[in-house]
Amino acid sequence: MAMINCPECNSQMSDNAETCAQCGHILEKPSRGFIGTGFKWMFILFNIFMFGLMYMSMGNTEESNNIVQFAAGMGISMLIAMWVMGNVILGGITYLTRVKQ
Ligand SMILES: [Zn+2]
Repeated sequence: MAMINCPECNSQMSDNAETCAQCGHILEKPSRGFIGTGFKWMFILFNIFMFGLMYMSMGNTEESNNIVQFAAGMGISMLIAMWVMGNVILGGITYLTRVKQ
């Protein structure tokens, strides 16, 4: 637990405190909500998943599993379209749930 200075009255306060004990200034913490964090991770995992899928579907399909064979069957252009669409949707939600400064 660190001590910070209140931006309003400059007195010492805990960074865990939501309001200053001296002047009552409300400290706004940059924090994503639970949903925002979830979508941010979904966005990251989706990109890793799609990248892996693309990489594997371009490689040797004999050793790959059903998901990769299905992805390879859809074709690279379809995969890219899916990737872009997923990014637009997830990215849009991530953007909307971003921390407002
Ligand atoms: Zn204060």
